[in-house]
Formats: sequence, C-alpha cells, structure tokens
Amino acid sequence: MVRYEVRCENAQQRYIQFTAVFEQVAELDWLHLELPSWRPGRYEIGNFAKNVKGFKAYGQNKEALHFEKTSKDSWKIATKGQQHIQISYSYYAAELNAGSTYLDPMQLYVNPVNCFFYDAQNTEQAYHLQLHLPADWQIASALNFDESQTAEISNFDRLADSPFICSAQIERRSYEVAGTTFHICFNEQRMIPWERVLQDFEKFTARQIQDFGVFPSSHYTFLIQALPYAAYHGVEHLDSTVIALGPSCDIFGNLYTELLGVCSHELYHAWNIKSLRPAEMLPYDFKRENYAVTGLIYEGITTYMGDLYLLKSGVFSPEQYLKELSKQVQKHLDNPARFSMSVAAASFDTWLDGYVPGAPGRKVSIYTEGCLLAFYVDFRLRKATQHKIGLEQVVKSLYYNFAEQNKGYTLADYQYTLENLSGESFAAFFQDYVSGTCAYEALLQEAFDFFGLTLKQTPSKSYAEARLGMKVAQVGKEWQVLSIFPGSPADTGGLAIGDFIIGVNGLRATPSLDNWLAFYENQNKTLLIERSGQLLERFIPEVDRHFYVTHQVLQDVDLLASQQKAWLNWAQ
Ligand SMILES: [Zn+2]
Repeated sequence: MVRYEVRCENAQQRYIQFTAVFEQVAELDWLHLELPSWRPGRYEIGNFAKNVKGFKAYGQNKEALHFEKTSKDSWKIATKGQQHIQISYSYYAAELNAGSTYLDPMQLYVNPVNCFFYDAQNTEQAYHLQLHLPADWQIASALNFDESQTAEISNFDRLADSPFICSAQIERRSYEVAGTTFHICFNEQRMIPWERVLQDFEKFTARQIQDFGVFPSSHYTFLIQALPYAAYHGVEHLDSTVIALGPSCDIFGNLYTELLGVCSHELYHAWNIKSLRPAEMLPYDFKRENYAVTGLIYEGITTYMGDLYLLKSGVFSPEQYLKELSKQVQKHLDNPARFSMSVAAASFDTWLDGYVPGAPGRKVSIYTEGCLLAFYVDFRLRKATQHKIGLEQVVKSLYYNFAEQNKGYTLADYQYTLENLSGESFAAFFQDYVSGTCAYEALLQEAFDFFGLTLKQTPSKSYAEARLGMKVAQVGKEWQVLSIFPGSPADTGGLAIGDFIIGVNGLRATPSLDNWLAFYENQNKTLLIERSGQLLERFIPEVDRHFYVTHQVLQDVDLLASQQKAWLNWAQ
C-alpha cells in the first residue's frame, strides 16, 4: 500500500505539495521510485520530473534518508533497516490543458500520470489517496472519493489513468445508457443548457454502445474544463475523459459542434486505445517511447468514427458532418508531405515531434491521414459486402479478439480482419497507402461516388494563396509567410517561410497585402521583404494556375438509387 497525501497551500504559487508513504520496504536495500516520462494519449516524451521540486526521503523515525537519482526521472532511496519510508516533494502545476496538472486559488486539477511516483518493482501496489482541500470545494473524477476526500485505487495503472478536478465551481448531471451511468461535469461553466446537452450526449453514447454491444467500464465521466480563452483539447482515459475548451462564452454557441466532436472522439477511445491497444502499448511502458506504426487505427479510426457517430445518431446533420470531413480532406490535400512520409512512419515519429508544426513539409498527421483512410476502408467494406459490413464491425471484431483476450494487435492483424470480413485483399492498400506514400485522391473519389458525394473545389478568396501560392498572416504592419505551395510563384520567386513582406512594387503593403497584390493582377511583381534582418527584393512571376484550392465535400442533389441505399446504410 502506498499512502499519498495532496495539499495545495499557497495555491497562487502553483506548487502542489505531495507526501507518500511506501510500506513493506524492510527487505530492500534500495527502493526504486519512478515518475512516468510520458502520458498515454500524447505519444511523446513529457519529462514531468522537470516540475518536481525539493524531493526528500525520510525513515520511520523521521530521519532523513540518503537517496540518489539514477535517471532523469528515477530515484533510489537507501531503505536498509526501515519498515516504511516517506517521500515529500512539490510539483509545479502552471499549465492547463486536457492532459496536464494545474493549481491556482480556484482549482486543483491533477492528472496523476504527471506527478505520482510508483515503485518500479511493485507496480501492482494499491494506493490510498487523501486530499486536503478547502471546505467548499467538490471533486469531479471517475475515482470514488468519500466525504473525507479519500479514495482507494487498486494499482498504479488505474491511478495514472484517473484524473480529478477539485473546485467550488463544478456543475454536474448524469444520464444512463444500457445500464452504464455517464456523468458530465463542467468546471467554471455558467448557463449550461442541460436539456440539450444531455439529449445529444445520450444519443451518441447509445449509438456507440449499440455497435460494440458492450461498454468497457461500469461508469464514465466527462470532465470539461471550460476556459475563458481559446482552447481545444481532449485526453482519453478508460472511465473518464478531460476536455479543455474555450472561450467558455462560445461553448454552447460556435463551439458546440467542437464540444460534441471531441466528446464523441474521446468516448470512442474507451474502446479504441484504452481497451483495444497496439501490442507495443500493452502494457504501457511509462519510462520510454512506445513506438507503434498503428496510429491510423488508434487515432485515425477514432477521428473518423467519433464524427461519424454524431451523424449516425442524428446529433449532426449531413451538412455538419460533411463540413468536418471536408476539413480533413483540405488538410490532406494542402500538405505536400503526403508524397514523402507515410501515415505509418508518422505514427512512429509522434515520439520525435508529433505535436508541434515542425520542419515545413516533412510530416503528415495520423489524425487526418488515418481518418481519410478509415473513410476509404469503410467504403471498401460496404461495397464488398453489399452494405452488410462496415468499419464499425471491424473494430468490434478487433475489440473482442484482442482487447477482451488481453492481447495487443499489429498492423497485420488489422489487415487480416479487414480481409476476413470483406473477402477482399487489402495488400496493395497497406503497401501503397499505409506504409507507402502514393497519392490517394482517386480512392477518395471512388468512395465519394459510392455515397453520392461530390468534392467541390473553389479557388481561395485570398490572392496571396490562390495566385501566388503562399499563406500569410499579419504581424504588426507587415505580412509573414506561413507556408508556400511547392512549385508556386512564391516558391519559384524565392520567398521563404518566415519572410516578412513589406511592400509591393515599391509601395508599402498596408493595410491589406491582398488588395495590393490584386491591384497588380496578372502583372509581375517585385516584393520587398525582410529576412533575418536583411532587406531583399524578390521578383514574383504570375502564372495561370490556382493554389490552395478550397475543398468541400457535398451531398449530391439527385442521388441514384444505389447511392441513396449506400448513404442510408452508412449515415444511419
Ligand atoms: Zn484521440
């Protein structure tokens, strides 16, 4: 048993105070304590130990014990002659996102994987957790805290997967689907239209459970951090999820589709990644990279199915759903890296730089590519089986054959399941589009035709984007180049990402660069730019071609009978 206590004195300083007693250490010369190096849901090294301050160890008579660090986030403590030992430390909690740990005078929010230690030789030890909170604070969590703010947790894995939010501003409601209770907890959100929220959440929850036939947990909690500034982030857990969304004044207005989208996505993760896992992550190894090439399954399929379930359950209209699909198509077609990096390679490389923009044109997204390839696979399955089998049955089959058997899957298992259920070979698909970098517009077109959809292309309204092939953003009086379309006039004319555009043909480009570019329509232009402190002129040609085309997936007005059938089978 590990007995943890958590205090938040001087909360404005953002340090949380932890003490922990590790029992039954008498047999050991050294107790090896570990802090995780990463957190599930974000497949990159997080180095949470950088937030640990003032680590100390004490013996049973409160005497200081000798300890040493053995790696950046591993400690060993001399325990000879001790029955139990205590450690104490503070954790700096100043970052608020869906996977972080955060403290201010209004709330304590803990993602235990960031800040709780475990005994490397005994990860199955139970934890007794005691919080010390202000009297008017409540606790929102999938953990079962009693009135004295204590909870019992069976082992470190469970603890690491169980975030909690403590504040005086929690509003909650519950609903039930197929015998499972679902809780929705908002922190710091005012004027919640509960009736609408409960109705919509119940619909997408019921539709997901209907397809799987079972929910992997006996209860589930949506923990929603409503923030006063722009935010959009969600992190999955087995019996809960944390969503950070803002600004909170827009959550039930412009951001409501985002709220539904991220919640449906995270709920689907309860099956797909929290239960059904790639072999490399079963169990999670918290100390090092868990490289896997299957991100197109655990994030791609989740991105695709999360939104599709909003359509299938009637929460999204076809227009709302197709708008989300269009965004993925747009990101895919705008990214030239699709010709040089496969989605399998991108999955492996999330551990390198998966969550930052990174080197321009170097990588693709497991979310975007995985979503579109899932859409194509769903179409292939439905076509091959005359609408009898869809992607939902493939994931269900994987769930029963792997998650329920406590086995991890590989890319080959996914291929086998697709082939087994469809009766068709997917060998070329995996070779060319999963592990390869072949263009797949034609594949998407086949799927669009099948469901009665059209990909509408319109030129960008921005002259800089449409005619010169560059995306720009205003910084002060100047315009900074954010991206350049390969082969476009901006590219061949010698502009670079990061350049500041100051003037066009000898005139200052204010207040609108686009208006000045359009003023010289179809004429060659000389741009004055600033690059690393140097003022340079660049000659930009005009060509008869459009760049950064806007792509929209729309439903055809007149559907063939076969398309009508395909749409209804897919969308309902
Ligand atoms: Zn996800």
